[in-house]
Amino acid sequence: MSKLEPQPGIMEIALYQSGASSIDGVSDILKLSSNENPYGAGDAAKEAFRKAGQNLHRYPGTDHAKLRNAIAEVHGLNAAQIICGVGSDEVLQFVTQCFAGPGDEVIYTEHGFSMYPILAHACGATPIKVPERERVVDVDAILNACTARTKIVFIANPANPTGTMIGGNEVARLADGLPEGAILVHDGAYAEFVEGFDGGAALVESRENVIVTRTFSKIYGLGGLRVGWGYAPQAIIDVLNRVRQPFNLSDMQLVVAEAAIRDTDYVARCRADNARWRAWLAEALAELGIPSDTSCTNFILARFASEAEAHACDDHLKAQGIIVRRVGGYGLPHCLRITVGDESGCRRVAHAVKSFKEQAA
Ligand SMILES: *Cc1c(COP(=O)(O)O)cnc(C)c1O
Repeated sequence: MSKLEPQPGIMEIALYQSGASSIDGVSDILKLSSNENPYGAGDAAKEAFRKAGQNLHRYPGTDHAKLRNAIAEVHGLNAAQIICGVGSDEVLQFVTQCFAGPGDEVIYTEHGFSMYPILAHACGATPIKVPERERVVDVDAILNACTARTKIVFIANPANPTGTMIGGNEVARLADGLPEGAILVHDGAYAEFVEGFDGGAALVESRENVIVTRTFSKIYGLGGLRVGWGYAPQAIIDVLNRVRQPFNLSDMQLVVAEAAIRDTDYVARCRADNARWRAWLAEALAELGIPSDTSCTNFILARFASEAEAHACDDHLKAQGIIVRRVGGYGLPHCLRITVGDESGCRRVAHAVKSFKEQAA
């Protein structure tokens, strides 16, 4: 046994912690820990799911043409430059697997998404954590950290768990300032929550070194389906497709995702509803002395006076069946990340936080 040595980096990976979904002894659970859509999937996606499943003995298509064409139509993109994966996580994995290895550096930012260092380790590369400025991605700090070994820079924009965003000019400055041979990965898991935002697609059109990723897991309410996609220059897509397994997505995944992306009305309604209740929740918490940065996503990063207060509030919420996310692992021990629920969910959170504050006073 002792001769079995995993590849370099593998044993550096800390196992991913997902958001909890149950509490012992509590029945009326409100899960606000994984940035899921409180309304679930739209009717078109659910209908497609019901209809699918007649051909389980058949292998799915391998080129994902129908889904890629639908994505391209809806977003005004070139279908040939789209790649689909098992969640956007798989697309991110294709990028690290193809473009980084032992001796290479993969940059991510101070409070960046936890998958980035995991994926860097998984391919044997060295993850490099760069500071942010007041919970916002700092382009200059990233550019200063770049070396000849930098192969990939990951940013989520808007970001998780901070909810903050940088503007298109800043992203362009970052892409243009990277060393030769380095790729910018612009993770747009929350892009749909920003009205009119192209998720960085225009940057791809005019550059060779940018890939943008998107997911069906957040606004589409399909986290359980596991579908995401990436958009990149043809040369990058042609590389990524070599490591993509031919049958990485089932027919079920493909047809449901296609129905979801065409249901643009549902997305618009969810975006509007999220914006409304996000503002309401942020204000309700601010009135209780708990500030948050203006969020561009479907969650709020609530900042408490201390780690102890954040944990005490989390315990209080849990006792009432409300599950939110501790983010100490993201370097934010005094914060809790709270997904924006529907109206009753937001009211329930505000009410519970208020009772926490009153009980502490
Ligand atoms: C949720 C999330 C994803 C999406 O992951 P999937 O694999 O598509 O479910 C990607 N990046 C960030 C920053 C996220 O928060």
